[in-house]
Amino acid sequence: MLIQWDNLMLIQPRDESYQFKLHDKGFISIWELKGKVLVIAEKPKASKRIALALAQNPTVYRYKGIPYYEIRNATSTVIVASAAGHLYELHTDASGYPVFEYKWIPAYLVNDEKSHTKAYLELLEMLSKRCNYYVNACDYDIEGSVIGYLIIKHLGDERRAFRAKFSSLVPSELRASFSRLMPLDYDMIEAGLCRHELDWLWGINISRALMRAVFKSTGRRTTLSVGRVQTPTLKYVVDKTLERKLHIPLPQFSVHVLLEKDGARFVADLSTNPIARKADAEAVARLLSSHGYLVVKDLHIERYRYSPPPPFNLSDLQEEAARIYGLSPMETQNIAEQLYLEALISYPRTNSQKLPPGLNYKEILLKLAQIKDYSSLVSRLIAETKGILKPVEGEKEDPAHPAIYPTGLLPQKPLSKKQHAIYDLIVRRFLAVFAPPAIITRTKVILVTPRHEYSFEATGLVIESPGWLTYYPFHKPEARMLPYLRQGDVVKVVKVKVNRSYTKPPPRLRKIDILRWMESVGIGTESTRALIIEKLFERGYLASTRTGIDVTDLGFGIVDVIEKFFPELGSVELTRRFEALIEDIMKRRRLREEIVQGAKEVIRKLIEKFDMYSIEVGKMLSRSMGLEPVTSKCNIPSCRREPYANGLCKYHYQALELVKNMYSEWKNRENASFAEYLAKLAKLKLTGDYVRDVVKYVLKAGD
Ligand code: ZN
Repeated sequence: MLIQWDNLMLIQPRDESYQFKLHDKGFISIWELKGKVLVIAEKPKASKRIALALAQNPTVYRYKGIPYYEIRNATSTVIVASAAGHLYELHTDASGYPVFEYKWIPAYLVNDEKSHTKAYLELLEMLSKRCNYYVNACDYDIEGSVIGYLIIKHLGDERRAFRAKFSSLVPSELRASFSRLMPLDYDMIEAGLCRHELDWLWGINISRALMRAVFKSTGRRTTLSVGRVQTPTLKYVVDKTLERKLHIPLPQFSVHVLLEKDGARFVADLSTNPIARKADAEAVARLLSSHGYLVVKDLHIERYRYSPPPPFNLSDLQEEAARIYGLSPMETQNIAEQLYLEALISYPRTNSQKLPPGLNYKEILLKLAQIKDYSSLVSRLIAETKGILKPVEGEKEDPAHPAIYPTGLLPQKPLSKKQHAIYDLIVRRFLAVFAPPAIITRTKVILVTPRHEYSFEATGLVIESPGWLTYYPFHKPEARMLPYLRQGDVVKVVKVKVNRSYTKPPPRLRKIDILRWMESVGIGTESTRALIIEKLFERGYLASTRTGIDVTDLGFGIVDVIEKFFPELGSVELTRRFEALIEDIMKRRRLREEIVQGAKEVIRKLIEKFDMYSIEVGKMLSRSMGLEPVTSKCNIPSCRREPYANGLCKYHYQALELVKNMYSEWKNRENASFAEYLAKLAKLKLTGDYVRDVVKYVLKAGD
């Protein structure tokens, strides 16, 4: 039994009649519903696939260009129509803040970007009036549950409504799904409504408070936005960006030695690489040259099985698409969604790394074999596994969907280059999960100087059997050869080299890194993370530059204000706490009303605190927006921030202090005068932007 009726009653008082009938077996077939049934899909393409799965020749009608489908049999008429994503939005008529009263209204009334949804809503309204039953057949996740529910609630009757659950748009799965319609999934609906309400309350109240503060300070109206998930994410990017911009590269040294044994040459590296001081590295090099040989002290030969990775969930797919093809998470998500609507892959917005238990793997493989690129791979896989198809799976699960897999349906029209790239990744990954592990032998040789003062390491790597790497070649380790060596062997030193490098700043963030971080701290959802990242760009808080992601003055300004006055809003803690509460709704441990009430209390307190500082906040923000000319500016010519100390803004001052403080460490590593140190910092690519700014400024002042 899938439904615990008593718990469900707690969340939503229900009508007797229809759902009770269904209670007996837990599901009902769409063809058992007598009369007219309205099926609501999330998008037009999905509605077409559903209609074609339910009947060979559904009658097609159009309303203002939007197709809908009718299927009749002796006792029922099924009408399949479509939403266009969200048709409703939260809205308030109240101005000012705090605002705690709101309602769902048609999105086109208040959002210009949603004007195209008016016709969809009109059509659904007209069809709803004619129908006795309603089926929410939107994508089976929280958003889909909310989209369908709001339509049924406003235009139909939720007491006579059902949910279709499916993970791909393959006809057989759709047919199975409509023969087992479930009651509305109130746990997902309630969790989804709660998430929307929290996001709305947070966004509108804090944003309005900030905009009001700017207005009071400058008399200008602006658009600013902060969000429950958006703001901690922005703060993370700002923190990481600052670390980079304030980075002082320090010299470090590594010793490498070219060795020879029986005419074969190979390289070994000092075990303690890198070392801080140049003098120490040079001492090692001198000693090596004077001895002229090393002795093999130890050999570690490790033969290991390198297992295939699990099937894709959305973030793993986004990660690989970024790594291999440089696609942004949003791009990957959009492309995967297109492939899903073509029924080529299962539902992509999933966290699961497990394949569905009942899936006929062999049937899918044989269908994929009809695609030229995969035919020989599939034959090889079937031979290699002797037809025993047991997938490797990961830990992560998703209550709504399995991992992403190819359905085996063949593309009906040519895929675009990017679509093909994503499809290929998914197919290859699917093949790889059944393949045997790769067998790799790694040899680590430890060599020492004659009196054991220093030890060196050389590694060799041989791929003995490629296993899954044949199907998914994007993780192939590089093979490296070593000559045959035994313990006690004496190996000739051919050449010694001391390399200088510099400590690196943390790597520049990519969108996928931000997404991974959000995932790791548990904020946002599979469906929303990529979108929230894009919003930070749309709002002008982040910018894409030639070299990667950068934070704008406005982005820094917002985080400055948040950190100073409302650290709670920038912290992950508060957001994560509410995410956990939303999870509790799904698990039927809590009610939406209770959580929304709690959120209102938190916001009320934040706003009270805010009002005490609003003048200061307004000034800070309007300066970072360039609305109010700053009376004096940071001495760095390109900087518009106001001075904090010594004529420099906060960040440049911080950079200057670092430059001063790090000199002694630099000098300890490699002797250099202060002037040489500055010249080097000015030149090095690894130097943080703010550090370089102040170094140039200091050098210029010294001229
Ligand atoms: Zn500055």
